[in-house]
Amino acid sequence: MSTRIAITGAAGRMGRILIEAIGLAGDELSLAGAVERPESSLLGADSGELSGQGRNGVPVVGSLAEVIGDIDVLIDFTVPAATLEHVALCAQHAVAIVIGTTGFTPAEQAAIEQAAGQTAVCKATNFSTGVNLCFRLLDMAARVLGDDVDIEIYEAHHRHKIDAPSGTALSMGEVVADALGRDLQQVAVYGREGQTGARERDTIGFATVRAGDIVGDHTVTFAAEGERVEITHKASSRMSFGRGAVRAAGWLVEQPVGLYDMQDVLGLSKAN
Ligand code: NAD
Repeated sequence: MSTRIAITGAAGRMGRILIEAIGLAGDELSLAGAVERPESSLLGADSGELSGQGRNGVPVVGSLAEVIGDIDVLIDFTVPAATLEHVALCAQHAVAIVIGTTGFTPAEQAAIEQAAGQTAVCKATNFSTGVNLCFRLLDMAARVLGDDVDIEIYEAHHRHKIDAPSGTALSMGEVVADALGRDLQQVAVYGREGQTGARERDTIGFATVRAGDIVGDHTVTFAAEGERVEITHKASSRMSFGRGAVRAAGWLVEQPVGLYDMQDVLGLSKAN
């Protein structure tokens, strides 16, 4: 029997891509639920038509509770408040959950970690294979270049993005800070204006651009006297995230209860 997947945020930018990605994934994975906000005007619409793929017979419903009994795994790309409700319901029903939503507070993050004590949770700020490879390259670069460089993180996204810096940029900051034994909360600088004074070496700076339809650009610069290394990733289609999240869903249903990330799915985690 194929793994039955539901999508929350089915009518969103990522939701529509995820429906398409499941359709492309082969017979082992199938779409078994498409969920939107209860007040959505799209309830009852065919989710296949919504994603531009033609009818698939899976209607959009207004609550995860309507489909939770019929699925093996949920993929959630919504907003933090909705994700928290969904992860709690998944924990209650022992349904695995892939979380792509970004912008959680530390308290919300703790609630997700607690739910991972009851069901398998895979959470990543970026599900693209290329970005996850970049995380490993950043770890290596930070260890080699160490405290001799200034580290700055630049990110650019489309004008509709509601959180900043991007979850991916923050994850990149965490990878670099961890490699250097720094606490990102202590060393992050999220903007500069006016008389800022000279740069302190151990800070990690973030710069954010919001413009047009940029899918997601990230560059981490390691700048020393006389040379600099830049590690860049550019996403040109959301399908890179969609394919990764669907791959994570297929992998997650085989895992025991616990908290995982895309590094685990790809076998890139440092434990490997
Ligand atoms: P979007 O606004 O286009 O879509 C979000 C959808 O969630 C909307 O359709 C909204 O109606 C729906 N939603 C809100 N509350 C809901 C609820 N209670 N139940 C069901 N549906 C609900 O946003 P988007 O661009 O698709 O991004 C969604 C999230 O995914 C953001 O946090 C974004 O940063 C993140 N994201 C993550 C990755 C990754 O690889 N991890 C990639 C892209 C986007």
